[in-house]
Amino acid sequence: MNNRFKPGDLLLVIDVQKDFCPGGALAVEKGDEIIPVLNKWIKEALDSSIPVYASRDWHPRNSISFEEYGGPWPPHCIQDSDGASFHPDLELPDSVIKVTKGVRFDKDQNSAFDETGLAVHLRKEGFRRLWIGGLAEDVCVLATCLEGRLEKFDVLIIKDATRPVTRREGEKARKKMLEAGIQIIT
Ligand SMILES: [Zn+2]
Repeated sequence: MNNRFKPGDLLLVIDVQKDFCPGGALAVEKGDEIIPVLNKWIKEALDSSIPVYASRDWHPRNSISFEEYGGPWPPHCIQDSDGASFHPDLELPDSVIKVTKGVRFDKDQNSAFDETGLAVHLRKEGFRRLWIGGLAEDVCVLATCLEGRLEKFDVLIIKDATRPVTRREGEKARKKMLEAGIQIIT
């Protein structure tokens, strides 16, 4: 598919969990369509010795992210629930490193960088450039991309490997990404 990887690259897959796919508690329309695309990227990355990290939303039952507790969302990705598991069609070999977020009681964590220690870790490991896909484009993917830029990584978003909650918010998200210097790969 591509020979675009170079040393210092990393593939970061955001929140491809059952609850964010059709049939889930907070489903993104056609969210599951990105899975075969991501599977190709994951395979290509690992074949090219490019590490793959996968984040997951992982809320306590009484998360501040949920409407009942003052947040914007219905309950989703509750720790150890079926909906919080990675989508079964997503091919994540054991070598894939998981990043867990959304566990805090005092705030939501849309970005995989938000107080997870990920940026410090990636810098220490010598990563400079991040290829990103996952769900949802206008929420956790956007937040991760923007924070990645703030942390001085080069960020590329794989357009076919992400879907927004709504088309309009997706357009707004891509505009924000371009303004932040994020490259959109089609
Ligand atoms: Zn969440």
